[in-house]
Amino acid sequence: MNLALELARLLGDDRVDTTPAVLAQHSHGESYADGVTPAVVVYPHDTAEVSRLLRFATAHGVPVTPVGANSSLEGHTVPAAGGVSLDLGRLDRLLEARPEDLLVVVQPAVTYPRVNGHLKRHGLFFPIDPGAHASIGGMVSTNASGTAAVRYGTTGDYVLALEVVTPTGDVLRLGNRARKSASGYDLCALFTGAEGTLGVITEVTLRVVGLPEAAAAARLPFPDAFRATSFVTRLIQAGVPVARCELVDANSIRSANAYSGTDYPEEMTVFLEFHGNPAGIAAEVELARELAEAAGAGAFEAATDAGERARLWEARHTMLFASNAAHPGLHSLITDVAVPISHLPEAVTAALADCAENGFDANLVGHVGDGNFHLTLYVEDDPARRAAAQGVVDRMTYRALDVLGTATGEHGVGLRKLKYMEREHGAALDLMRTLKATLDPAGIMNPGKKLPPAR
Ligand SMILES: Cc1cc2nc3c(=O)[nH]c(=O)nc-3n(C[C@H](O)[C@H](O)[C@H](O)COP(=O)(O)OP(=O)(O)OC[C@H]3O[C@@H](n4cnc5c(N)ncnc54)[C@H](O)[C@@H]3O)c2cc1C
Repeated sequence: MNLALELARLLGDDRVDTTPAVLAQHSHGESYADGVTPAVVVYPHDTAEVSRLLRFATAHGVPVTPVGANSSLEGHTVPAAGGVSLDLGRLDRLLEARPEDLLVVVQPAVTYPRVNGHLKRHGLFFPIDPGAHASIGGMVSTNASGTAAVRYGTTGDYVLALEVVTPTGDVLRLGNRARKSASGYDLCALFTGAEGTLGVITEVTLRVVGLPEAAAAARLPFPDAFRATSFVTRLIQAGVPVARCELVDANSIRSANAYSGTDYPEEMTVFLEFHGNPAGIAAEVELARELAEAAGAGAFEAATDAGERARLWEARHTMLFASNAAHPGLHSLITDVAVPISHLPEAVTAALADCAENGFDANLVGHVGDGNFHLTLYVEDDPARRAAAQGVVDRMTYRALDVLGTATGEHGVGLRKLKYMEREHGAALDLMRTLKATLDPAGIMNPGKKLPPAR
């Protein structure tokens, strides 16, 4: 079968692209070296076209890999079995905003900065901030979180309703617009974090929240990762409702300074942000200052100025690109784990020590208020070094699982984390495989991801 020709007949010529550059673009996402080229990239314009495509794909056993903004990090969008790369970029309409109900309805390619640009005039925002300009469909599909999760939670906490096309082409509307519901099974939760393995999300209804009246930021240097993370653990245990709590190591700050022209001291640093009213924030900043002093922090610098806060988070958001720029010719391997917060100091310290012992220049940043941290290893194009880097990731992940943490706090499983799923989920994996087989009988949706094959 000439797949591109068949799909052009089904959906129209302008929905289908086989240009080599476009195929190459869709062969992998960020931070994943081993791409696979799809046979064809398809750009549907509406839900009906997605449905027609999936019905065809199930009938003919054609693999389909959905793609949003393609910023995922663990090989999620690699079309591992070839077939169709389903680029949802043209489903990009903001359909409805209902400030009075605190909700917004969007098509999947709308990015979260665009949602927030629109909501600002209503004094509202969608508080999940993964940094990259991710699409809402991709964020739901990875249950993305990011810098503000310590206060506001994850994307899944904001999904009220979804329109989903199943692999057999049925269009389902899941959830509702009520603030809460005890009705039926929670199928929105099933599709949240499914990484495109159960169907295609074509519409999302999101709960949104009020913008804080005031905000403040603080920057605290620490002599080492252990003391920095011990401080964070105490801060969270003390119930201080920080809005963001980021650990950034000296290497990352050095790269950010070179890349963004900032001049932050190049030390292990915790960045905090507080949201609320001015009096409440002042009290929280003071409590954080006291805890920081007791934990051995250096000079505590607070800023209420919006420009300074924006500069600080801009530097944080470009850190991966800044670090990559500082390591020309090396491949970046970025991955995350999450642990119960009391285990954070030892988890972070052990990961950094392992990198040093194996001669890897590594950068560490983390949404440490959630016990979640990211490690980026810079790896030579050499099989032995790649294997050594994988060893560091394996040990970091198994240490997280040993303390009943998770192989991924937010990036997801994709391809790279498949090997840990058996250990993390045990017999529950069989139930997951049963759900997958029920929804996707021909196994066309993003095959090879999320669930390892049964032994
Ligand atoms: C610099 C940088 C920083 C990052 N920081 C964070 C962070 O702090 N926190 C965090 O959580 N993530 C982070 N990420 C990872 C990434 O941004 C998130 O995983 C994001 O949610 C992916 O969204 P996307 O639109 O790019 O999805 P894509 O990468 O295009 O897709 C992600 C997955 O969702 C599936 N998918 C996409 N759209 C749909 C759809 N409509 N229906 C069904 N399946 C779909 C895909 O098949 C794939 O499996 C970061 C990435 C980068 C590059």
